[in-house]
Amino acid sequence: MQITILGAAGEVTGSGYLVQTARANVLIDFGMFQGRGAGDEKNREIDPVVPARLDAVVLTHAHLDHVGRLPLLTGLACAVHATHASCALAELILRDSAKIQEGDAARENRWKERTGATPDAVALYGTAEVDAIVSRMRGHDYEQLIEVADGITARFQDAGHILGSASVELRVTEGGTTKTVVFSGDVGQKCMPILRDPVPCPPADLVFLESTYGDRDHRPADETFAELRAILEQSAWQKRKVLVPSFAVGRAQLLLHVLAEIARDGRSPVVPVYLDSPMAIRATEIYNKFPDDFDDESRGLARSGQARREFANVNLCVTPQQSRDLNESWDPSIVIAGSGMCDGGRILHHLRHNLWRRGVQVLLTSFMADGSLGRKLVDGAKTVRIFREDVVVRADVRTVGGLSAHAGQGGLIEWFTGASQKPAAPRVVLTHGEDRQRGVLAQALTGLGGCTVAQPKRFEVIEI
Ligand SMILES: [Zn+2]
Repeated sequence: MQITILGAAGEVTGSGYLVQTARANVLIDFGMFQGRGAGDEKNREIDPVVPARLDAVVLTHAHLDHVGRLPLLTGLACAVHATHASCALAELILRDSAKIQEGDAARENRWKERTGATPDAVALYGTAEVDAIVSRMRGHDYEQLIEVADGITARFQDAGHILGSASVELRVTEGGTTKTVVFSGDVGQKCMPILRDPVPCPPADLVFLESTYGDRDHRPADETFAELRAILEQSAWQKRKVLVPSFAVGRAQLLLHVLAEIARDGRSPVVPVYLDSPMAIRATEIYNKFPDDFDDESRGLARSGQARREFANVNLCVTPQQSRDLNESWDPSIVIAGSGMCDGGRILHHLRHNLWRRGVQVLLTSFMADGSLGRKLVDGAKTVRIFREDVVVRADVRTVGGLSAHAGQGGLIEWFTGASQKPAAPRVVLTHGEDRQRGVLAQALTGLGGCTVAQPKRFEVIEI
């Protein structure tokens, strides 16, 4: 069998693997390249994948950097396998992505027309291409053995990263022998609210392991949550307006969980909570449909109806006007809005109207990429530029680190070694991490003994 690395090699986006045997071609993830150097051209290039020749597509989870290029697979005639929750979230994310691609192309063409150039911008893909992929999605339970192609079975194991996230175990039979290959997907942190802990890697012949935070450990989750709760409770006593930039999938639901917990404890005044993101609202509704995928605590809250009652207390801002109504308000409130890195979305309007106000608090809990507005705020910028306007930062900007949806180095090693502390496979291939991060993780894994560690480049082929 040959496995070609299609992306996320020495970087954290564009995940994808093409698994080929004499009898079958299976694609694992097909994610979008994002951030620096990720132009349309890199995303459009689907070689060496030939959609019509694929026997199956298998998805680890519904983040854009794992599913975002699926609509480029025109002519796909096979099933796209994922957990039930991943199917629902992938549809939401792909439809949103198509809308963004179409909007960007239309805007560029208007600009080109104004400058006398030919309006030749074409969206990476649109709604029709997403419809085609969605119609091929097949939802599965965790731990179920699924025959996805001739001689290849797949099994999803909970990866604890976002709702529906999974590591994928492939058992591949060729010439009478069966080999096990595991794709970690993105591995979550232990002890995070809502989600179950990641299920450790099963014994395998070859493991593809993510390495996003391969060079460091996060501080313990309970410390992080205690800090987050303390800040929110103090803000409530101080009658502050609090702005919380948030990703729509995962982070928004986690924040709502913490806020519901604070309200339940009743140690601080009740403050109205606004979820100002149509995408986060829809993602939360999808989360609420899959309580069986939650950890024990959240499943209990869902089953008793308490989670539904608590969500009913959240003010949902669907229309732009509902969002604008909040801009000028000075009332104590908590506003959760996208985007997570403050590089777009409704949070920009909230920041423009409030950053200059003393007494307002901005609570940053997300990873902020270099160059993003969120990163500038984390770094203590005194003024920032929003919508071509310089805005003075007088608000109290607080950063809570450690809330990552990714395991740190210790968590990755624990996932890879399970309870035995012995490597799950003799060969491990590190992907989904910058070179520095995966280099440090490679050293740590080599130190365990018993496995060889590879750090391949994009399009490298692994033979087994
Ligand atoms: Zn992810």
